[in-house]
Amino acid sequence: MNKEKRQLIFERLRDANPNPTTELNYSSAFELLIAVILSAQATDKGVNKATAKLFPQANTPDAILALGEDGLKEQIKTIGLYNSKGANILKTCRILLDEHGGNVPEDRKALEALPGVGRKTANVVLNTAFGHPTMAVDTHIFRVSNRTRIAPGKTVLEVEKKLLRFTPKEFLVDAHHWLILHGRYTCIARKPRCSSCIIEDLCEYKNKTSD
Ligand code: SF4
Repeated sequence: MNKEKRQLIFERLRDANPNPTTELNYSSAFELLIAVILSAQATDKGVNKATAKLFPQANTPDAILALGEDGLKEQIKTIGLYNSKGANILKTCRILLDEHGGNVPEDRKALEALPGVGRKTANVVLNTAFGHPTMAVDTHIFRVSNRTRIAPGKTVLEVEKKLLRFTPKEFLVDAHHWLILHGRYTCIARKPRCSSCIIEDLCEYKNKTSD
């Protein structure tokens, strides 16, 4: 895909949604971190439902630790893998208090050292809480980048690196939200909605659908 097409694609995505953000509900970097840890292999909707009850009771590392293991798991038991996620969240809260003064570190290495936090979660937190131009490549971004040929790659890391290299600077901070939302609602996995896609004429996917 050439530069001009990429520019046009992001212009259209921006015009359709000038202020994109995550669909996870949060009101602080800490809440975002917890929500993203909970969201692995779970829907944002399911996570929001649980955090709507959890955060008013506990939205700091201290408060979550005070809930204890049983108390926390009771709050998140509707979310898949809640046992391991709960254990990771408690360990993460401990480290945040012991090593970061109770704050979420604005640093990739420190974030990735937290239990339950991988590269993707670190990218989401750096981008959405701190405004860093990172690309949190999930299954939606991976699919959209490959189908459109914006940033084709065989691995998540390859797609991430290409997106960082090829996305025009002005779109870097918001690009990952646009691509996630596009993948979630238009360029869906099973059957992309090409006939109602706003970048259909720019996309280089060979098997576009017509209905
Ligand atoms: S035209 Fe189809 S394949 Fe291309 S981005 Fe749009 S929905 Fe996805």
